[in-house]
Amino acid sequence: MLDVIAEKQGLELLLSSMEEAVLLLDMEGRVLRSNATAVATLFPDEAEITGKVLREIVNHASLHTFVRRASDSVTSTDGETSFQDGGDRHFLARGTPIFSDGGQRVATLIVLHEVTRLRQLERVRTDFVANVSHELKTPITTIRGAVETLQDGALEDPAHAREFLNMIGRQATRLQAIVEDLLDLTRLENIDAQGAAELSSAVPAVIVEGAVNQCCPAAKKRDIRLELDLNSSERALCNPLLLEQAMVNLVVNAIRYTEAGGMVKVTVEVRGQLLALAVKDTGPGIAPEHHDRIFERFYRIDKGRSRAAGGTGLGLAIVKHVAQLHRGRVRLYSEVGKGSEFVLLLPRQATRD
Ligand code: ADP
Repeated sequence: MLDVIAEKQGLELLLSSMEEAVLLLDMEGRVLRSNATAVATLFPDEAEITGKVLREIVNHASLHTFVRRASDSVTSTDGETSFQDGGDRHFLARGTPIFSDGGQRVATLIVLHEVTRLRQLERVRTDFVANVSHELKTPITTIRGAVETLQDGALEDPAHAREFLNMIGRQATRLQAIVEDLLDLTRLENIDAQGAAELSSAVPAVIVEGAVNQCCPAAKKRDIRLELDLNSSERALCNPLLLEQAMVNLVVNAIRYTEAGGMVKVTVEVRGQLLALAVKDTGPGIAPEHHDRIFERFYRIDKGRSRAAGGTGLGLAIVKHVAQLHRGRVRLYSEVGKGSEFVLLLPRQATRD
């Protein structure tokens, strides 16, 4: 008897700990058994589902189509089903017919394995490839056009020839910038996936100063005043090269999108347990609807302006990755017409005193 109880409890435990949603349906579509995942996934609002007809308690057309197919089949059925629940949710589905000892069909076991995250990742990948192709296409088309014009006679006309050569040069530079940013992003993603960023104790203010120095010529060229407050000697665990690159990206953006004569302020200061590396500008500001998406790859508010200024649309995606590798995060504070502030927050390194 104890063995039977133990076996029953074991089965119960097994069912309730499964990540898959499990439903046992009789031939009328009534729920005979279900596990916790099935209830949470399909009927979060139903108090009791045993004995109820599936069609009457859940309204997902593609699930019903699959269940009907599985109930009509005498062998296992595989398929996919999806439904809306806040967003799209996708499941791999398997239906197995259950027979009585006498060989009579009595029930169908439905198992749903959620693959929403996988589908999202696949979607991100395809979108990404489409975006990259699109980004590369424009400069390549321009280069081809310029070469053809040169071949068709412009080469013989020195003034025009120089103009087309310059055009080719600019587009080649653009291609190089895109490819370099893509390689950087891939490298960051690989480090992220392996969880193996090399971090060592450093003074971020010194790294930020290095980044600002790299941007001085660009600021001068655009008549942007750089104001600095980098006196903090706080330490944090950093990858100096990556952190410098992230800060260069933020300062370059601030210079790029601020009108000539404007100001960019770069500061390092303690905020509680965190160290805030902030880049604030007097530029056009960023409307709230862009705040969430601006860190996505290739997301740009004004494509023309970004391209004209030499942007690749990848700078902030790189910053976000670098922040994550430092177990930190990046924040944006901005209002249209009032400038923008990007803040990279790093965990401070505990000091011994
Ligand atoms: P890009 O190479 O286009 O600058 P980023 O990923 O660095 O790509 O930035 C994405 C977009 O965010 C930019 O195209 C721009 O529209 C906006 N942006 C970034 N920084 C600023 C800023 N300081 N002020 C206003 N807009 C900004």
